[in-house]
This record gives sequence, structure tokens and C-alpha cells, in this order.
Amino acid sequence: MYINKEIQMPKTSTFQEEKYRNFPMVPRVMFGKGSFNQLGEILLPKRKHSEAPFIFLVDDVFKGKELASRIPTIFNDQILFISADEEPKTTQVDALVRRIKTEFPALPSGIVGIGGGTLLDLAKAVAILLTNTGSSSDYQGWDLVQKPSIYHVGIPTISGTGAEVSRTTVLMGPEKKLGINSDHTTFDQVILDPDLTQGVAKEQWFYTGMDCYIHCIESLSGTYLNAFSQSYGEKAYELCKRVFLENPAPSDSRDMLMMASWHGGMSIAYSQVGVAHAMSYGLSYLLGLKHGIGNCLVFQHLAEFYPEGVALFNKMLQKHNIVLPKGICANLNDCDFDTMITVALGMHPLWENALGKDWRTIITPEKLKALYQKI
Ligand code: NAD
Ligand code: ZN
Repeated sequence: MYINKEIQMPKTSTFQEEKYRNFPMVPRVMFGKGSFNQLGEILLPKRKHSEAPFIFLVDDVFKGKELASRIPTIFNDQILFISADEEPKTTQVDALVRRIKTEFPALPSGIVGIGGGTLLDLAKAVAILLTNTGSSSDYQGWDLVQKPSIYHVGIPTISGTGAEVSRTTVLMGPEKKLGINSDHTTFDQVILDPDLTQGVAKEQWFYTGMDCYIHCIESLSGTYLNAFSQSYGEKAYELCKRVFLENPAPSDSRDMLMMASWHGGMSIAYSQVGVAHAMSYGLSYLLGLKHGIGNCLVFQHLAEFYPEGVALFNKMLQKHNIVLPKGICANLNDCDFDTMITVALGMHPLWENALGKDWRTIITPEKLKALYQKI
């Protein structure tokens, strides 16, 4: 079991005042196999009028698949299939918002995101930008969103990121990869239907699932830990261990991983992630690597910071015959390393959570470079 090194009370995002943060939560959630079938009745009372459509942003992996035919469109609702091959960008969000505004004179009744973290983040960002002017890059940061977003629903089809429950939407912008962290980001409604995760490929299941596992390790071993985060983190950690290590695998492991993702997201909401996420942000900023695999590539080398967590991670890799790619940083030059190091070191709260107030004396650019060179 993870024991917190030093319990601190959660602070404001500016880390200047000792104030408690007042977090929004998803106000409505439906859980259960087949619950997707109730989407139509959930949306009905939220329809403003027949000219105000629901826009469904759907992972294009579902194009032509049974799930797409079950989306309850009426009136002038629209389904937009979007590729999740790349992580969401601010330019992509801006283009989607322009398209919706051009095609529909009235503000839509709502946005429904169906897919993994990529589609969920896109849905959150589009819902915000339909009521807030300018570019989505203007809102990357903390609490910059002024006006409430339009009604938005998140329906995950792969488990692990916790994007379904978080108050952030992570976007690659012109200058930085950073979330729109705001009270208006959180979904108004989430549907957790474990059946929707059925078609996920094994490697992807593992990488996205490990995002959740790493959320637990980083939250539970961080200095920001408190009873709120710990209660959710321990539950998610226990579920991850069962899903990825139990023999034979639990028959309801899809349900369990979906709930692990939810609890992992809740845990980091009131604490923070740590070393793996800071370094993974650097990796994906430079190389465009996706979040789940990026975290795994970094985490395997972090035994110094998370000995127990890395030991279990190695067991999970072995059990599922996952071979992580090697030599990712082999051909990078000094300038590339500097870019990754600058992005990673810029994530102050993550380092402070992981290593305490004196983190700068523990993690230096040289040390980070040595770690990146192992990847
Ligand atoms: P993803 O959305 O990037 O999807 C990964 C792959 O799985 C894609 O190829 C997708 O098409 C496929 N897929 C998804 N569901 C499937 C299904 N049911 N059947 C078959 N294939 C399916 O995956 P992810 O790991 O959930 O999300 C990563 C993104 O989430 C990153 O952009 C990351 O920045 C973001 N993220 C956000 C938060 C947050 O709190 N907002 C937290 C962590 C990560
Ligand atoms: Zn993560």
C-alpha cells in the first residue's frame, strides 16, 4: 500500500495562498452495460428547439460500425467522425467550432463526445469555444474561461485517462501542450457503458489502462496527497492490480477498468500527477507520442522515484506480453533534449507534488537528460 510521505492540504492553482479549491464534479453519470441505449432519452429534455441540434463528435474507428447506427439523431443533429490518430490540437478545435457556427445559425443544444481521451477532450473544448470568443489557445492554462460552455456529454469507449471526470481538456497549441483547466470544462453528463470498450486492441488497452495505473502511483506517492485523493487513488490502484495482474482475469474487468479510470481521475483532481507525466509531456510535445504510450516509456525508468510502482508495472508488461518500443530518443540532438527538458521542468506543480518543495535540488536538467536518453 502506498503511504504518503507528508500530508499537505490541497492548495489553489497559483500555489500562493493557502486556500481550499472548490472543484466541480460531473453532476450526472449513468453506469452499466447497454446504458448507451438511454442516450436518446437523456438528451431529449436538453433539446432547446428543433433548429438547435446535438453535434456528436465520434471517433472515426466507429464509422460504419454498429455503435454509429445506435446514435440517437433527430431533427438536424449531426455526427462528425474524427480521427484519434493524433492528440487534439487548438487549431482543430477552432476549425470545428467555425464549421459548427457556419452550418448552424442557432447555438447547438449540446455536444456529445464518443471515444477515448482524444474525442472527450475535443468535445469539452468545442463546448467551451461555442460560447467563448477567440481561439482555444487563449484558454490554455488555469481558470481563463469566462462563460459557461454549452451542455456537453462524455461517453468513453476506452478506459484509463480519467478525461471523463476531469476539469481539463489537454490540447496541443501553437506554443505549448496544456489543458484548458476550468470549472466549465467538466462534462454535464457522462455515460459509462463498459460494452463500448469491447473493440479496443490489446496494446492500446494496456497503454491507456496504464495511464490510470500511473495516475494512482503518482497521486498516492505525492506530497499533495490528502484523504480525499487517497480514498479514490487506493480504490483505482486496487482495481488496476486486479485487472492487469489477477489470474485468470476477472470476468467483469471491463467494468472494473472503467471505474478505475473514474476513480484515478478523481484522485488526481485533488492532488496531482508526478515525474512520469511531467516527462511524458516533454516527450509527446517533441515527438507527437500519445499520452498512454509516452507515460509507459518514461515510467519504466522511474524505479528511483516509484520503486514499488515500477516493479508491478514490469510484471504487468510481462503478463500481457507487451514489448515497449526502444531507441525512441536515440537520434535526438542536444536541442531536442533541451526542448523536452524545458517542457518537463515547466510543470512545477507536478514536480512539487512528486518531490516536495525542494524539487529543484533533486531533479536537474542533466538528470532529466540521462533519463530521456534511456528511452
Ligand atoms: P485515444 O482517444 O487517443 O484513442 C486511442 C486509440 O484507441 C485510437 O486509435 C482510437 O481510435 C482507439 N479506440 C478508442 N476506443 C476504441 C474502441 N472501443 N474500439 C476500438 N478502438 C478504439 O485514447 P486515450 O488514451 O483514451 O486518450 C488519449 C488522450 O487523452 C490524449 O490526447 C491525452 O492528452 C488525453 N488525456 C486527457 C486527460 C484529461 O483529463 N482531459 C487525461 C489524460 C489524457
Ligand atoms: Zn495521464
